[in-house]
Amino acid sequence: MSISWVTVLGATGSIGVSTLDVIERHPQRYRVFALSGHSRMDVLHTQCLAHCPQYAVVADDAQARALQSRLRAGGCATEVLFGAEALEQVAAATEVDVVMAAIVGGAGLRPTLAAVRAGKRVLLANKEALVMSGALFMGAVKASGAVLLPIDSEHNAIFQCLPTDYARGMADVGVRRILLTASGGPFRDMSAADLVSVTPQQACAHPNWSMGQKISVDSASMMNKGLELIEASWLFDVRPAQIEVVIHPQSVVHSLVDYIDGSVIAQLGNPDMRTPIAHALAWPERLDSGVSPLDLLAVARLDFRAPDLQMFPCLRLARDAAEAGGTACAVLNAANEVAVEAFLAGRIGFTDIPVIIEQTLERMAPESVQDLDHILQTDRRAREHALSWLSRHR
Ligand code: NAD
Ligand code: MG
Repeated sequence: MSISWVTVLGATGSIGVSTLDVIERHPQRYRVFALSGHSRMDVLHTQCLAHCPQYAVVADDAQARALQSRLRAGGCATEVLFGAEALEQVAAATEVDVVMAAIVGGAGLRPTLAAVRAGKRVLLANKEALVMSGALFMGAVKASGAVLLPIDSEHNAIFQCLPTDYARGMADVGVRRILLTASGGPFRDMSAADLVSVTPQQACAHPNWSMGQKISVDSASMMNKGLELIEASWLFDVRPAQIEVVIHPQSVVHSLVDYIDGSVIAQLGNPDMRTPIAHALAWPERLDSGVSPLDLLAVARLDFRAPDLQMFPCLRLARDAAEAGGTACAVLNAANEVAVEAFLAGRIGFTDIPVIIEQTLERMAPESVQDLDHILQTDRRAREHALSWLSRHR
């Protein structure tokens, strides 16, 4: 069995840690080429000692020096690099076979795209990258022959429920629609009045999944499902109208594909990201992920209901942006990132999040996307608009 060399972008985060957990179970199949982290240097230090990657990439010079000397003292030969270019370098290096794209937010776009352009097997957790750059990103996948495999549990489920030749087109393979499940987040049963005063701590306490702060807040506002709707439309080349969001509080059915003959195929499993990670690492083979078997008798019931778009306007805003196309999704994503950060910092209330996003979208009419620079410029402008909203509403 040949060894695959893996770069984990965002190794210190929730997905990064789960990825290394799966990799550690299969030392005869996977070796770590590079790890990256932006904070939590103690975690990165421990990961480097355990995996001895060729490279570690951190945010800046000071972090790099500190980590480099600690690693040397520990007898570890890992070379520490820093900055955005270094991330692209370790994503695209010729030695690398697999790149786990698990940086959160727009910061992950360039390195993820670098991995795609270098024709790697790209395990996509960083949904914001695809949301920002949809057509350009998928065009780069086609051009380079990269193997793009979704890590988002819903998209990984859809991928598993689709026939292998789904790229022929949904109509050709008999798909009627995609049913995207959502837990509904920690506030799914709350009243609209109570939603106004929820805290970052409450928003980050997801009932089923343990995740980074940003995606936890997105799950609470249902922007996560909105971003996932956009993500699914690009990954599987389906119109947003063909994707239906269904609230499923148990997070056991990870998504479903509805075929024209009436068959509905679902993928089920315990809510543990090591399942999609192991699936994408080994595809088309299967790998032990360490996830315990699903006990259906313990689950006992599976509930489904419609989402409440009044309570959670982010889902509506995302669907509208998906329909509008062009730069609209990059604007949506940037405004959301600014709003979530402000909410986490205690500067705004939870229900201000959709207000900031909507006003930013209103100020920036969608343009047709020219190139990566155009997307990055749109991202910057949208962040400025959102920040100016914040400064006007202190
Ligand atoms: P996290 O916050 O736990 O980890 C984020 C990682 O990105 C960390 O390693 C951090 O150091 C790094 N990072 C943050 N800002 C950076 C920057 N400016 N430059 C470079 N690196 C930076 O997040 P997570 O929960 O692991 O999520 C990562 C991505 O995976 C997100 O896009 C998220 O939407 C997606 N995702 C996560 C889950 C989950 O269960 N956690 C599920 C589906 C999709
Ligand atoms: Mg998901």
